[in-house]
Amino acid sequence: MFKTYDEVMDFCKRENIQMIDFKMIDLIGRWRHLSIPVGRFKPDTLKYGIGFDGSNYGFAPVEKSDMVFIPDISTAVYDPFTEVPTLSMIGDVYVIAQPENYRFDQDPRAVAFKAEEYMKSTGIADEMRIGPEYEFYVFDHVSYEALPNKTGFRIDAEQAIWNSGSNEYQNLGYKIPLKGGYHITAPQDVLYDLRSRMSMLLEQNGIPVKYHHHEVGGPGQIEIEVEFGPMREMADKTMLAKYLIKNLAFKEGKTVTFMPKPLYGEAGSGLHVHMHLFKEGKPIFYDENGYAGLSQEAMYFIGGLLKHAPAVLAFTNPSTNSYKRLVPGYEAPVSICFATANRSAVIRVPAYAKSPEQKRFEFRSSDATCNPYLAFSAILMAGLDGIQQKIDPVAEGFGPYDVNLYNLPPEEQAKIKSLPQSLDEALDALEKDHDFLLKGGVFPKRLIEIWIEAKRKEARRVNDIPHPMEFEMYYDL
Ligand code: GLU
Ligand code: MG
Ligand code: MG
Repeated sequence: MFKTYDEVMDFCKRENIQMIDFKMIDLIGRWRHLSIPVGRFKPDTLKYGIGFDGSNYGFAPVEKSDMVFIPDISTAVYDPFTEVPTLSMIGDVYVIAQPENYRFDQDPRAVAFKAEEYMKSTGIADEMRIGPEYEFYVFDHVSYEALPNKTGFRIDAEQAIWNSGSNEYQNLGYKIPLKGGYHITAPQDVLYDLRSRMSMLLEQNGIPVKYHHHEVGGPGQIEIEVEFGPMREMADKTMLAKYLIKNLAFKEGKTVTFMPKPLYGEAGSGLHVHMHLFKEGKPIFYDENGYAGLSQEAMYFIGGLLKHAPAVLAFTNPSTNSYKRLVPGYEAPVSICFATANRSAVIRVPAYAKSPEQKRFEFRSSDATCNPYLAFSAILMAGLDGIQQKIDPVAEGFGPYDVNLYNLPPEEQAKIKSLPQSLDEALDALEKDHDFLLKGGVFPKRLIEIWIEAKRKEARRVNDIPHPMEFEMYYDL
């Protein structure tokens, strides 16, 4: 990790770097980039930044839309995919002003910085460590023209079963049955080497991997879990991990999708987020006498996260496709409750994490269509609000539900709230419930407004288009 300008330049000389590439995050969570010849990268670049037009990144217009980004050299990595030797780093966005430029408050990375600062200012904790789990599908990269139905998507269950090879007329040889891919070995596991290369690439780029495996989804679902780190840093690393994973796959004639539900009838892909808080290096989520070894703070954090969950989902599950994943029967969460053993609960306390340092829980709803800076910050702000307001998840009726929810009597089942079932529902919730995000100026109001506006547009876009299933159901009515 680079600390000084000179260290960067020494590296550039040694590695014959020709271009410096800057990555900025836009509103919806995509990296944009701009590059300069290495000779133009000067000490002043780190002080005054590089001008660009920020109005194209999806943020709400600001009076002075003239912006600069200041490179964060601590994020610099050698780009393994470019032919031209390139060093890549993340840029922080500033609004140009006199006498001093100021941080653009809608920049998602700034939001994550502010969320961490706010956490420290409350005195509750000084670090949130999170561990994300990356799930995604790998598909062959075939041209559109070569696809039999020219859509590339399976639209009904019958076709899903047919494609998965479990139809009796299909070759069952080494095909993975529907939802049968969990930890499957060779010869079915044809993705082992690619997955290993992805994991090695992550490690080479400062993202240590815990493990990788084939996930439940038969046609090529993968999971790579990475080590914990501080919240904002893990948002950076999530962006980098997705970049590395997608580009390695592409180089090898494959594509990767982090879409939460690319295939009907198959497991969806989540981005579960494990989390715990630390104060002065000591974990504060552990208490040997608490439920599942959790402290009172951890319980209040859970209370806050569950209470605000519908609004939080507008950031953690911000695509129309997100809600096609959050349905029963696929280990994706559907209920606003917590548990240790129950995968349909949105918060699960993993029983295997027993020591004080490991004690944590996972938020299972999030998916990788999120902007990780905004998603992780929203989770933190909801949890902090829970601690501040002492929101007791048991008193609120959020559980624990360590039973199969479907075996509960109907009157008990009726008490358990469901997660939002559409993007619009989550946006409705965010519209009503966002004060917890505004605290400490962490989420600017304008950012929440523009987010809702942009996401409503996405929802409308999908809603307005006649769906293939509508033809099946209504064409002949
Ligand atoms: N793929 C599941 C999901 O959509 C999660 C499976 C697991 O528990 O790892 O969230
Ligand atoms: Mg998984
Ligand atoms: Mg998990």
